[in-house]
Amino acid sequence: MPKAFIIGLDALEYNIVTAFHFKTLLQKDFGKIDLTPYKMKLITPWLWSIIISGKIDTGITHFVTYESRMLRFIEKILTHPILYKKIEKIVESLRRKREDRSGTAFFFYKKGIKVRPMGKEDLKVKTIFDIIPNSHAICIPGYNLWREQFIIDLLLPLTKCIGNHKLTLKRLRLQWLLEKKKKKILEQLLHRGDWDLVMVHFYITDVVGHLYWNKPLMLLETYKIMSHWIRKWKTILNTYTEPVWILVLSDHGMRRGLHTDHAFWSSNFKLKKRPRQLTDFFRLVITYFQNPSEVVKIEITH
Ligand SMILES: [Zn+2]
Repeated sequence: MPKAFIIGLDALEYNIVTAFHFKTLLQKDFGKIDLTPYKMKLITPWLWSIIISGKIDTGITHFVTYESRMLRFIEKILTHPILYKKIEKIVESLRRKREDRSGTAFFFYKKGIKVRPMGKEDLKVKTIFDIIPNSHAICIPGYNLWREQFIIDLLLPLTKCIGNHKLTLKRLRLQWLLEKKKKKILEQLLHRGDWDLVMVHFYITDVVGHLYWNKPLMLLETYKIMSHWIRKWKTILNTYTEPVWILVLSDHGMRRGLHTDHAFWSSNFKLKKRPRQLTDFFRLVITYFQNPSEVVKIEITH
């Protein structure tokens, strides 16, 4: 059985990775995915749900949803395109009155209404994890985002932290703690080697991009740390007898604290057919498990 390892780095920017020649992130083959055909707002959990399912209409529409079926129903009506613009205006003006920079979800959470991240339960499409038997998903937005990650976003949203030195440092520290926890779980898996597909997602590249939008060096430093981590994982994978396909992916890019409308991909093997849309990754991964040579040109280079 071939193995595939997918590293999701949120908001990893094609133009930065190429301009600063991050070799570990660029790998053998790399490219850009144009997101401009998508007319909807580029929401992180939705974009990742496209990557893992190959479908656009995945069922993931928001970051947050409500535990109660009734509230989920009301939310569906209120966020319907016909009503959405009007409702958004009302919510926005209420928020401005209270000078509140936290989201609507936090408002409900404070009122004791149970909220959760959108994920598996809301998906109406099959993902790579349903199809590849021995697969592991570590904290994937739109699939199985950790509760801890969700709570940090709820209590310390980036919009509230930007421009506030104390909150910025707190958020950064908590985010790194989470990333280190993911790293630990991932490395245990990589050392064991008893998997077919592993996918992990890190938020830090997005978080730093927003928090330090005016300090690009901070983002470069974060890219450096992530490359260093990936290099370490590659040395573990080099001890395997079978080759491992390593994909580094992002859901969108980042420029001066704002999301850009292109995503990044790179592969440790040359691809026979390069992905052009986010939806292409699903097919590539599934085909790779049926017949690797149809997807990649495997060269062993230890
Ligand atoms: Zn994102």
